[in-house]
Amino acid sequence: MRFRYLIFQGINVTFEKLALHPAILQAIVESGYTTPTPIQAQAIPQALAGHDLMASAQTGTGKTAAFVLPSLQRLSTPSAVSSRGPRVLVLTPTRELANQVTDAAAKYGRHMRFRIGSIVGGMPYPPQMRLLSQPLDILVATPGRLLDHMERGRVDYSRLEVLVLDEADRMLDMGFIHAVEKIAAATPKGRQTLLFSATLEGNVAKLAGRLLKNPKRIQIATAQERHENIEQRLHHVGGGEHKRELLAHLLSDSAMDKAIVFTATKRGADRLAKALHAQGHPATALHGDMNQNQRNRAVHGLRTGHVRLLVATDVAARGLDVSGITHVINYDMPKSPEDYVHRIGRTGRAGAKGIAISFAGPEDRGQLRDIERYTRQGIPVHVIAGLEPKAVSGKPQAQDRPRRAEHHGHPRHEARRHNGSGNKPAHRGFAKHPEREETRGRPAARDRGRGHIRRGRTDGPWLG
Ligand code: AMP
Repeated sequence: MRFRYLIFQGINVTFEKLALHPAILQAIVESGYTTPTPIQAQAIPQALAGHDLMASAQTGTGKTAAFVLPSLQRLSTPSAVSSRGPRVLVLTPTRELANQVTDAAAKYGRHMRFRIGSIVGGMPYPPQMRLLSQPLDILVATPGRLLDHMERGRVDYSRLEVLVLDEADRMLDMGFIHAVEKIAAATPKGRQTLLFSATLEGNVAKLAGRLLKNPKRIQIATAQERHENIEQRLHHVGGGEHKRELLAHLLSDSAMDKAIVFTATKRGADRLAKALHAQGHPATALHGDMNQNQRNRAVHGLRTGHVRLLVATDVAARGLDVSGITHVINYDMPKSPEDYVHRIGRTGRAGAKGIAISFAGPEDRGQLRDIERYTRQGIPVHVIAGLEPKAVSGKPQAQDRPRRAEHHGHPRHEARRHNGSGNKPAHRGFAKHPEREETRGRPAARDRGRGHIRRGRTDGPWLG
């Protein structure tokens, strides 16, 4: 595969220079955007020129518009094929991301006339079947459920022009590789493929090698260059009780307006949310065992400020775009460095400052080392007077290399750095991902949500 690297160098690009259709430009202006983000400045011209793309970009960089705007531009001219299937297919790893992409397309395409629908796991089949039987321009889908419908002959790809793989690394982590490949194989060979991923290495590179044709490679920033406006802090913890005390202390900070507290398990999220709620904090859980309505309610609560603390598993780490999150707390450390970067990226968005606080016990040394290597940054250790980590019997609490510590109150301990020796590598469990949302069988009875279809404005300038 031949790559061309396009490293962003502050090129002076404006939306006007991108030669987008006036109806799209109008929606951009109404969205309040004045300048394209780096990923938009690079990806949009390449995508408009018809190239395949592999772009490294995380949520928060404006990557959704980077593929939605050129896709909408395509819809401004009629399809050469007269059939009803989607002209643009966006695959996303989670329902939340699918919803956000759908919302973004509706927003940027508000002055256009087109039909968009989403097909995601955990939702009832009949509305989705109806959706697929109608004409559609953009389809946003999670791979497992879409494959289900395809295997029943319900999806028509005869006029598909663009395939977008959004958060491709995450889809692979969640075990969707075969579904993604089968879906891609069913689409026309002449399609344009746009791949967005936090990383472009390893399995993502292999997938790109199989699905993309002479892609332009766009690298916006390396992991360590991102999240400059997020202050990262590390608290060494000695166990569950210590974590609870530390959290209680942190929650007493009035600067903590809105926070996401990440736990390792769904049960952990439920338990902690209940405990916080019982203590009088506006807290709620968000995890993959909740049905779509419950999940929407939780995110809506955070958005509107009714919920101050969202206690979430990694399902919320990607895609979630809620403004004004002041703090991210890793109550349990994430399993992979990529998850860490995604989690902390929920705060410090759109130019705001954010604080990301991690609780790491002796068992987290391996993860911590991997995160620091991945981000090429040490996380400054913070110690709260009176809440210093106590040694846990038989387990190393103090660490081997001295590191900078930031003390609050009257520090009594010098915090040091873990060396991480003897630890297992970070877990990258694929098929058994704890937050895998898709079910290939019937949806759970509790999932009473509806299929999702949106229409652009009906008096817009184009399309029937
Ligand atoms: P995304 O990375 O696609 O999740 O986008 C992150 C946030 O940036 C979203 O809230 C977008 O509305 C916003 N956004 C996208 N493009 C721009 C832009 N050019 N200027 C300002 N904000 C933007």
